[in-house]
Amino acid sequence: MTLLTFRFAPSPNGDLHLGHAYSALLNQQLANGNQARLLLRIEDIDTTRCTPEFEAAILRDLEWLGVRWKEPVRRQSEHFGEYQAALERLIAEELVYPAFMSRGDIRAFISDRERRGRDWPRDPDGAPLYPAVDKALSRKERNARIAEGIPFAWRLDVAAAMARVGTGLSWMEFENLSLSTARHVPAQPQDWGDIVLARRDIPTSYHLSVVLDDALQGVTHVVRGMDLFHATAVQRLLQQLLGLPQPAYFHHRLILGPDGRKLSKSLKDTGLAALRAAGATPSGIRHMVGL
Ligand code: GLU
Repeated sequence: MTLLTFRFAPSPNGDLHLGHAYSALLNQQLANGNQARLLLRIEDIDTTRCTPEFEAAILRDLEWLGVRWKEPVRRQSEHFGEYQAALERLIAEELVYPAFMSRGDIRAFISDRERRGRDWPRDPDGAPLYPAVDKALSRKERNARIAEGIPFAWRLDVAAAMARVGTGLSWMEFENLSLSTARHVPAQPQDWGDIVLARRDIPTSYHLSVVLDDALQGVTHVVRGMDLFHATAVQRLLQQLLGLPQPAYFHHRLILGPDGRKLSKSLKDTGLAALRAAGATPSGIRHMVGL
């Protein structure tokens, strides 16, 4: 029988808040209730925003909360070579292409189209889709630009990728916390357009590293916030392209701030360290998040 494996995967680019506490405690509760193991993964590929200080604070907060995980902790910044190898495969299979438009170029391109009365399509988070301009560049032109040193990112050619995997892509989503019944959710990665899979300064991306790590670490159950529900479509597509096993998912409710909005790392009063300093206890935190 395969060992069930859950994971909590914070990014050390800020302090943990009540939303993270809920996610970590829920993963722990589900792991304990299913004789499963809980892993901790530090998602620190963005080396410009992630710091060892934030990581240390995360470990401190989790320990204080009573969350226990199976060692070793996996730190993504120590595995860039593995992500690079997967990217090379996608490059060789022509499923990604070098995209040269800067943020400013994209903005200018889109506002020009919108001025001419055409609504530009947006992804589920509201960001405009990447224009299919340099997907059409010839190999010669691409190579010339790369040789010239023009910066680029590797973007997934989502149409080519969908053609490769065929129709009927879906993921398993649990219906509730008892994890007894699941439904198939149709995956529509096209809704995100040609997403970035690697940048010049960061040779991977959230989606690429997360699917590789979930597979490498034998994660069977991904339990994370509802804010990542639609992103799962992209991750299912990458799992399929890279021949990786697919975990089952449960996207839990979000803990909202007093204004009814998603908590952010800048909201100091819902930060765990601030709550602890103000006298909160671990059981008080559980109570606050409804566990
Ligand atoms: N590192 C992501 C975050 O902190 C979570 C990724 C995931 O659970 O898949 O939002």
